[in-house]
Amino acid sequence: MIHPLIDTQLISRAKQLIDQAQTIVVVTHISPDGDAMGSSLAMRWFLLDLGKRVTVIVPNEFPAFLSWLPGAQDDVIFDKDPDAATALLDAADLVIVTDFQEPKRSGKMADWFTKNSAPFPLSPATCPHTPIIMIDHHLHPSDMADVTISYPQCASASELVYRFILQYIQSSISECPEAPLNAQRYTLNAQLSTCIYTGMMTDTGNFQFNSNDAEMYEIVAELMRAGVNKDECYDKVFNQYHEGRMRLVGYCLHTKMRVFPEHHVALIALSSKELKQFNFRSGDAEGIVNMPLQISSIYYSVFMREDTDKIKLSFRSQGDRPVNTFAADIFNGGGHKNAAGGEHYGTLREAVHLFLNNYEKYCK
Ligand code: 5GP
Ligand code: MN
Repeated sequence: MIHPLIDTQLISRAKQLIDQAQTIVVVTHISPDGDAMGSSLAMRWFLLDLGKRVTVIVPNEFPAFLSWLPGAQDDVIFDKDPDAATALLDAADLVIVTDFQEPKRSGKMADWFTKNSAPFPLSPATCPHTPIIMIDHHLHPSDMADVTISYPQCASASELVYRFILQYIQSSISECPEAPLNAQRYTLNAQLSTCIYTGMMTDTGNFQFNSNDAEMYEIVAELMRAGVNKDECYDKVFNQYHEGRMRLVGYCLHTKMRVFPEHHVALIALSSKELKQFNFRSGDAEGIVNMPLQISSIYYSVFMREDTDKIKLSFRSQGDRPVNTFAADIFNGGGHKNAAGGEHYGTLREAVHLFLNNYEKYCK
C-alpha cells in the first residue's frame, strides 16, 4: 500500500495552479544528476498527458549517461541559449521546480527566480508574478515558491513526483467522480515511469543508501508494471563510461586519496591539469566520492576538483554524521545529512587548506 504523503491542501493548491495554466516550464538544478533529470522529465510527461505545453529548462549541460532518458533531447539548456530560455520563463503561466530548494541552485536562472519571488495571493487576477510550485526533498526550502511541496524524508525528488502524480489523480477523481477527466483515465506510461525509476535509483546509489522505506519498493513494483526495464536503466546509467574515467578512478584511489585515520576521513583533490590527462568529461567524477567509504574505518569522504571558475566539492558520510554543515559553513554549499556539496571561489590549494583547517571540527 502506497500511503498519501503529501498534505492534501498542498495537492489542491498545486492542482489549482496546474489546471489554470496552459504553458508550463519545469526547471531543475545546476549540474543535473539522475534525480534532477528524472524528476523534471517525469513531470514533463505528466503535464503533456494533461494537455499542457511543457518545456524543461536545465541550467547547464547534463552528462552523456543521462542523455537517453525519454524527453531529455528536448530539454532547453539555459547556458547555451539564455535569451530563448528567459523568454520561455517569461511566457510561462506556471513554473515547477524539482530537486532544488533555493534560487542559487538554478545557476544563471537565480536572478529570474529572485525577482519573481514576491508573495503571491493565490488569486490569478491580482497575481503579480509567475506562480511557482516546488517539489523537492532538501532541507530548509527557501520562500521562492507559492506552493512548497518539500519532504526531506523522501530519498529522491523523483519519488516525490510519483507521489504527487498519484495524489493529483486521486484528488481529480474525488473532486469529480463522474466527469471523464483526463486524469481520471490516467495510467502511468513507460517513459514517465522510466524517468521516475532512474531518479530513485541514482539518488539511492542503486538502493544502497536512504533506501530502507518499504513503500519505495512498492513504487518500484508499480513502475515496473508500467513498463520500466530496471536492468536496462542500470546499464544505461552505470556502464557507460569511457576509458579515461576508469583510469581516473584508479589514479584517484592509488595516488590521490589521503586518509586521516584518527578522524575517519578521506580526501581526494584533483587539479584541472590532472583531469585533462584523463580526458575528463561532465559526469566522470560521478561516484568517486563514495569509494573511500568502502574502507571499513572511513565514515567521511570529501572530493574536490578544479572547475573552470571555481573548485567544486562533494561530501559524503555514513550514519548519524552530518556533512552538510561542513559544506554550508566552509564551502558555501549544503545538501543532505550524508550527501552534500559546495564550492570555493579561489585556488585548489586554498580549498585543500580550508579542508585541512576544518575537518577535525566537522568530522567527529
Ligand atoms: P553532489 O556531490 O552529488 O554534487 O551533490 C550531493 C548533494 O549535495 C546534492 O544532491 C545537493 O543536495 C547538494 N549540493 C551539491 N552542490 C551543492 C551546492 O553548491 N550548494 C548546495 N546548497 N547544495 C549542494
Ligand atoms: Mn535529489
